[in-house]
Amino acid sequence: MKRIYLSLLMGIMLFFHAGPVLLAENDLGFYQPPGDRALYKRSKNQQPKNIVFFIGDGMGLSQVAGSRMVVMGASGRLYMEKFPVTGLVNTSSLDSLTTDSAAAGTALATGHKTYNYMVSLSPNNIPFTTILEAAKKKGMATGLIATSTISHATPATFSSHVPSRSDEDKIAEQIVDQGFNIVLGGGEHFFIPRSEEGSRRKDELDLLDRARKKGYTIVRNRDELQAADTGNQILGLFQMDMLDTEAGNEPSLSEMTAEAIKVLMKDKDGFFLVVEGSQIDWACHENNEDKMIRQVLLLDMAVKTAVELTLKEENTLILVLADHETGSLTLKGSNLNGTDIIFSWGGTDHSCVPVPIFAFGPGAENFTGLHDNTEIPKITSGLVNIPLK
Ligand SMILES: [Zn+2]
Repeated sequence: MKRIYLSLLMGIMLFFHAGPVLLAENDLGFYQPPGDRALYKRSKNQQPKNIVFFIGDGMGLSQVAGSRMVVMGASGRLYMEKFPVTGLVNTSSLDSLTTDSAAAGTALATGHKTYNYMVSLSPNNIPFTTILEAAKKKGMATGLIATSTISHATPATFSSHVPSRSDEDKIAEQIVDQGFNIVLGGGEHFFIPRSEEGSRRKDELDLLDRARKKGYTIVRNRDELQAADTGNQILGLFQMDMLDTEAGNEPSLSEMTAEAIKVLMKDKDGFFLVVEGSQIDWACHENNEDKMIRQVLLLDMAVKTAVELTLKEENTLILVLADHETGSLTLKGSNLNGTDIIFSWGGTDHSCVPVPIFAFGPGAENFTGLHDNTEIPKITSGLVNIPLK
């Protein structure tokens, strides 16, 4: 009951507050649950023009279902749960049944397994083409969004090729050189020269300057992001480190997704957008279900936004999946309204249980059944004619 009361209260406060509002760490007042629990209709179209590829880092079935039970009880559905096609994904890496985020991201970004900690490189350091690189090469508009530093392991696997995920300053350089249309997230400290305050670079490279010369508009808060959506190349770095995800002047994951889709939609060749809810994983490492639920719901609001902005044309395939599960989470409870639900954490690390995938839009039916993580980008890329080898 306490959670529901708090959410209502915060909802009312948000409604009457004119300026930027800072959300409390566990507040769920931002969440607008679906009006009904009906599944979205399956598309009659077979081939998508656009792809939105959502990753909930560490988001297993218990993370999804537990979040829903807390806000809606037994019978509601999250937006991602309204997707008409569901499947399962195995998550092992090349050297371990239990993957880290770099190897898991590599599998989802390139269709290849590699060793844990490696970013879109083979074990002998041969780069694997990423699905975003392939999309850009074909002329599609491309975007990458995360709530971590944008150079963090999972988003990095779509933009970069480095032997270790800890090479975030090299990753930042490769991000700028890729020239994706939209890059939004945290981690400015890897983009500014060593001598500047707050920098975590080991050299004097000024990647913001390099990005500007390549045609990027650099934005640092919600207002600047919204003003920049008339252009077609935006680099948005909203914190030195990871995002706060607590509103204020920082755009939410949903707002970043909306701005990205508005810009990318202008490309007649279609777009490929990758959006990561990065901090679900961190909350699960902490075994903190309140934080976890909030991060899942922030991702779910971004999913809602993507559906609403693309629904009419019926030309966008939206996938929501995880790179792996974190925390070996199970759920217990008896009240149908979810008020006595117990989150039972089995550990503080990643587990190797398969994760769910939710699919909606043209081509969604291809994701039903159990797939290996490497098959997901292969199927997806095949659907937009940019087959990965
Ligand atoms: Zn991960």
